[in-house]
Amino acid sequence: MQTVFQDAASARAGAWLGVSLRAIAENYDLVAALGAGAECAAVVKADAYGLGADRVASVLAARGVGTFFVAHLDEGIALRATLPEVRIFVLHGFMPGCEGSMQAHGLIPVLNDLEQIQSWQRFCRERGCAFPAALQFDTGMSRFGLSNQDLQERSVFEGLNLQLVMSHLACADTPDNPANAMQRKHFVEMAACFPGVPRSLAASSGIFLGPDYHFELIRPGAALYGIAPFEGSRALKPVVSLDARIVQIRTVQAGDRVGYGLGWTATKPTRIATLGLGYADGFFRAQAGQGAVWYGQTRLPVIGRVSMDSISVDLTDAPAGLKAGDVLSVLGPAQDVDALARSAGTIGYEVLTALGSRFHRDYVSDD
Ligand SMILES: *Cc1c(COP(=O)(O)O)cnc(C)c1O
Repeated sequence: MQTVFQDAASARAGAWLGVSLRAIAENYDLVAALGAGAECAAVVKADAYGLGADRVASVLAARGVGTFFVAHLDEGIALRATLPEVRIFVLHGFMPGCEGSMQAHGLIPVLNDLEQIQSWQRFCRERGCAFPAALQFDTGMSRFGLSNQDLQERSVFEGLNLQLVMSHLACADTPDNPANAMQRKHFVEMAACFPGVPRSLAASSGIFLGPDYHFELIRPGAALYGIAPFEGSRALKPVVSLDARIVQIRTVQAGDRVGYGLGWTATKPTRIATLGLGYADGFFRAQAGQGAVWYGQTRLPVIGRVSMDSISVDLTDAPAGLKAGDVLSVLGPAQDVDALARSAGTIGYEVLTALGSRFHRDYVSDD
């Protein structure tokens, strides 16, 4: 395969991560259309699931997305530097004493417990201004948010400048799970304590449960990045490609062993390739014996253990002419993020957020 390099850095790289900003934008449009009637925010926590929050959020904001979610205060501060105008919600709220940073950067905390609410109330009183905030309810996941009990003392909430009330579904990726309707019912009841405040329940999978789950604002993350909302669904455009070059090829003989622990033994003369990506790059050790990379439509199994910086693959089914410097596909048409995740016993979310920083990154806006 002849490869054309865009620049010297690209030519030096052992692996290239391609991120299609256009596919992200198209996935946004698709999800926003499903949720027509609700505002469609974008979740860009964890560096936009490993793909680059700066780049991703800039493209979405240029398309008119006005509301973003991050998990941590520092993520919000970084995003604010890129996007001075948009609304940014910080899902974890703030650590004690950090109200000032939240407000100074124009960020909106998601208040998850009574202590956070009291701190924010005190901060607002001292400054003489009701700065915006959101509330999260725990509707069954027991992770973040106020309990039913917490809502009993209504005076706690007086004077809050509420932009949003929200909760999160635990089982939205299994549409038939009765927990979804149960959580929705709790959410409606709890939100009724705050009439007129916009409501948000659905992340990516929840959006696909239908309009009953959309309320006034939807919050997709994974779907924007091409992760399927539930097992087997194919609605979204693939966003990432990962191609790795062959560093070295050798032929081993029957009885020769490969990798740490000498964990794989050749049963016949076998051509193997060493590729320069490993668990430090997010190619999980759990892929050993399960994973594969691809040459076009040909599956090339990963053999032996995954090293920090390299993997070995069996070239038996590959064309004889392959040589060092040639390119194999780790993520691409033959193997999407969800498929790679399955072979490591995990989910696409973990594959994306684990992608290392050593790949050469190509952002494509017009493929
Ligand atoms: C991460 C997260 C989202 C986005 O979830 P996806 O499944 O990636 O769409 C939405 N809401 C909350 C509270 C989250 O933590």
